[in-house]
Amino acid sequence: LIEVTEVCKDFGTNRALHNVDLSVAQGEIVVLLGLSGSGKSTLLRHLDGLETPTAGSISVLGRTLTGSSPKELRALRGRIGMIFQQFELVGPLTVLENVLTGALSRLRGPRLGLWAYPKSLRVTALGHLDRVGLLHKAYERADQLSGGQQQRVAIARALMQDPEILLADEPVASLDPESSAQVMALIREIAADRGLTVVCSLHQVELALDWGDRVVGLRAGEVVLDTPTAELSREGAMAIYRQVAAETG
Ligand code: ATP
Ligand code: MG
Repeated sequence: LIEVTEVCKDFGTNRALHNVDLSVAQGEIVVLLGLSGSGKSTLLRHLDGLETPTAGSISVLGRTLTGSSPKELRALRGRIGMIFQQFELVGPLTVLENVLTGALSRLRGPRLGLWAYPKSLRVTALGHLDRVGLLHKAYERADQLSGGQQQRVAIARALMQDPEILLADEPVASLDPESSAQVMALIREIAADRGLTVVCSLHQVELALDWGDRVVGLRAGEVVLDTPTAELSREGAMAIYRQVAAETG
């Protein structure tokens, strides 16, 4: 479903990704694990077509990103949901309007206010809010919700795209442990319900091993491990900790 082949990415003289190979099958739950600066966000942005590799090729959902026109890229992006560390909600808007903006890529032109969206979409959005447990917050301002609630709104917004792939860039990095656990569990449940393929970056080793089906470790832009979590022993987990957390010179 996702094939990354020998991808390098340079920002000026800084090499952010170095010969990255990654292959993700339909329905897999993959964690990208690595320290700050290891290239997690850069890799995720490539998967969504927001960055172009300096070398190598990427295909997603059967399409080669590198050869795609801007129009094809937009269409492809419509099948990929993305959530971020900082949620990126529009604070002054209501929760429901924020969820509805997830459908914008499928509509023509801008939409101002709730009533600019077709009723069917409003109903769908309310359904997604119900799924993430926030139906009762639909008409509150997004910036009045807690962090964990805001991330759940962002998940509902991503669902408006009816995505086949969900990309999550450190979705719980700014949340407390309890909200983190809730958000991560919710992502897994929704992925299972819908047969979604998920690639999620994290920097916490324990959470990654506990949550993912497979963990891909990045260090200074290189893939240093790629292992199914079920096969990992305690020693294996410790080795991962050392490999991914080790300082590089
Ligand atoms: P964090 O855990 O802090 O989010 P990360 O693993 O997501 O880190 P990236 O943001 O992918 O790391 O950054 C990888 C490297 O690429 C870093 O050295 C960073 O400085 C560089 N980089 C990323 N984006 C850009 C950019 N737009 N311009 C220049 N350099 C960039
Ligand atoms: Mg990042």
